Amino acid sequence: MGKLYLFALGGNEISPVITDPETGKMVNPDLPAQWRQAWKTCEILAQFIVDHPDNAYILTHGNGPQIGNILLRSEYAGEMIHKLPIDVCGADTQGALGYMLAQLSNSLRVRGKDLKTAEIITQVIVDHDDPAFQEPTKFIGPPMTKEEAEEHQKNQGYLCGFYKLNDQGQEVWRRVVPSPKPKEIIEIDIIESCLQSGNIPIAVGGGGIPVVAIEPQKAGELEQYPCSYDITYQKSLDAPPAKVYCGVEGVIDKDLSSSLLATSLRERAHRRGEELEVVFVILTDVDGVKLNYQQPNQEDVRSLNLEETRELQQSGIFPSGSMGPKVEAVINFLEAGGQQAFITNIQVLEQTFSGQAGTRFQSH
Ligand code: ADP
Ligand code: MG
Repeated sequence: MGKLYLFALGGNEISPVITDPETGKMVNPDLPAQWRQAWKTCEILAQFIVDHPDNAYILTHGNGPQIGNILLRSEYAGEMIHKLPIDVCGADTQGALGYMLAQLSNSLRVRGKDLKTAEIITQVIVDHDDPAFQEPTKFIGPPMTKEEAEEHQKNQGYLCGFYKLNDQGQEVWRRVVPSPKPKEIIEIDIIESCLQSGNIPIAVGGGGIPVVAIEPQKAGELEQYPCSYDITYQKSLDAPPAKVYCGVEGVIDKDLSSSLLATSLRERAHRRGEELEVVFVILTDVDGVKLNYQQPNQEDVRSLNLEETRELQQSGIFPSGSMGPKVEAVINFLEAGGQQAFITNIQVLEQTFSGQAGTRFQSH
């Protein structure tokens, strides 16, 4: 086998914030627009896959806009039908976005290549005492002005934060939820077997559904594992220890989970005596990392080694809800022994690999 390319598609990649030409308001694209955007992405990926047939491929995706929308629907319909917790909304987005990205198979088949994609509903273990639960940073849902955000905070009681400046220099605000750090991917062996079958897994969608390991409690001769919804698993004290997981409300950063996935697959291959080279490609709406971002003296950064990347990250120039976790994901990947990572825009994919666009990260 050649290399394994892991393409991490941003929520922005499928659902870029657009300005409505009639009202001048910032809006999320509707479903047909998201579908067409995903199709364009899949066409480019399919061509790349056909042009580089010796490699293996895996997709991951964000879900910020979509999970926020599902949550809003659930809240607005709350008088008629039960509300949905965030972990269940996350699982829903994995299904729907995996379905949307399965168009990649169409794009491959019209190019004469019969490969299937499989969205794997992925759970990712987080620490139940992760400080992120006290300090929400993950942006979800539709864009708002500062005034709208303040109104939502007051009326609906949910937290909002400043997300970024748009192309017109206007402030974009969004809802924020806790974003615990990913520790371990539960379905890693299923993802690996999908890869080994020659097909294309779509995994850790939206960062994966956050779950925590439940600590057993002694109850007489039994050990009990209390989970949500009054469900308790139990086993006898002398039976071997069991792993029991239960969903928690949060949205894991998809770049951090994608990095963990890339590293886990490399390490598992290594333990089997195989050397797997993983190329970690983060696709977003900017064509790479910039210095002095959105300032008159903005500069492209084409290439960084691990040391330089760490220095830039420590200087605090990358915001925690957008570019920060991407750079952190790259650092984690390189520190664990990954060879090459990229942050770029899919429109300039080939130019990125030849060094004319995007940002390339390497360990030295
Ligand atoms: P995604 O949905 O792809 O995860 P994010 O919004 O989380 O996208 O992150 C990409 C955004 O990071 C860009 O749209 C850009 O506005 C922002 N950003 C912040 N700082 C920088 C920087 N120094 N260079 C490039 N982009 C930056
Ligand atoms: Mg993001």
